[in-house]
Amino acid sequence: MTTTSAPPTAVPLVAENILRLKPYVPGKPIEEAQREYGLTDFCKLASNENSLGPSPLALAAIREAAANVALYPDAACYQLTRGLAAHWGVEPENLIIGNGSDEIIQFIGLAFVQPGDEVLTAHPSFVRYEAAAVLNAGIPVEVPLRDYRFDLAAMAERLSDRTRVVFLANPNNPTGTMVTRAEVDRFLDRVPERAIVAMDEAYFEYVDRPDFPDSWEYVRQGRNVVVLRTFSKIYGLAGLRVGYGMARPELIRYLRQVREPFNVNSLAQAAACASLRDPDQVERSRRMNREGKAALGAAFAAMGLPHAPTEANFILVDVKQDSRAVYEALLRRGVIVRTGDIFGLPTHLRVTIGTAAQNDRFLQALRAVLERGTGMRDEG
Ligand code: PMP
Repeated sequence: MTTTSAPPTAVPLVAENILRLKPYVPGKPIEEAQREYGLTDFCKLASNENSLGPSPLALAAIREAAANVALYPDAACYQLTRGLAAHWGVEPENLIIGNGSDEIIQFIGLAFVQPGDEVLTAHPSFVRYEAAAVLNAGIPVEVPLRDYRFDLAAMAERLSDRTRVVFLANPNNPTGTMVTRAEVDRFLDRVPERAIVAMDEAYFEYVDRPDFPDSWEYVRQGRNVVVLRTFSKIYGLAGLRVGYGMARPELIRYLRQVREPFNVNSLAQAAACASLRDPDQVERSRRMNREGKAALGAAFAAMGLPHAPTEANFILVDVKQDSRAVYEALLRRGVIVRTGDIFGLPTHLRVTIGTAAQNDRFLQALRAVLERGTGMRDEG
């Protein structure tokens, strides 16, 4: 006889903090949208991927590396670590490679957060920071954004001797906004010695502003700063999962301590190495983004929709109505974006800046939806 219900037990199966963890809500995959909506031609502007895709050098490296997938990957990520060290003019001991920068965020939680420790960040920001706290029985402390930006002055007031990790997304997700060198300088001077500051720069390569901080300089000054970067965004390798952290060797040693030996697969290592040899692809992506940002910004202004000033490859726009309904109506027109309700911004949409054609398609769909309403009845 079989039964599906678990036997009663006096001992809980999982710790209370695991039950508190909010599940991550990813952008809708194209195949899922196709299954649900019966359209074939979807344009996904939901997860801040690079619509230009990866460098052809990366694709060639993946094909070559595919011949060896029967073998475990290089546990030490030797070539990629050296490639990145040369790229940034740092030492291999300053680097840790992860299965996406997501994994480095997780390592930071595992290595540094002990039960009862506070993890300070902003809200809304990248949700995995909260997970890094909660998974390790730490206490997330979230300070509201001010004018869509990290409010470092208010965050400094929330630092305490229980603060162990600070997560600072710069530019921030979901707003795309940045904090300046002067703001970060002032904040870091108030951070207690025992706390680690993770400067998450997943969108670093898109930033145009000259007052963006040089976070490596903070590492050079000997501070407890870990800089996070990724190959998922401008390098167009989100599907392979590879990101990295840069910090002084002592911190890197602790992070490597909690790493699973084969955490970065061999195709990802090969593709990331090859991408570093193609600065032109990065430049093309940057140019496309700059043009798209201007086009979307102008269109939103013409439509009377406020948007956050972005330095990333996405824009948060206030559609001034329930954005879930707008999102659904856009889906029916084959465009996938992200709703703001998951970030506590129920009238906002977050849209990835795509190719000129994708941006136009999104704008056309948005105009139609806003003019004709979001109901099925009006979807002509
Ligand atoms: N940090 C921020 C701010 C992000 O937006 C993302 C991706 N959404 C990540 C980290 C994780 O990126 P990945 O794991 O793909 O490197």
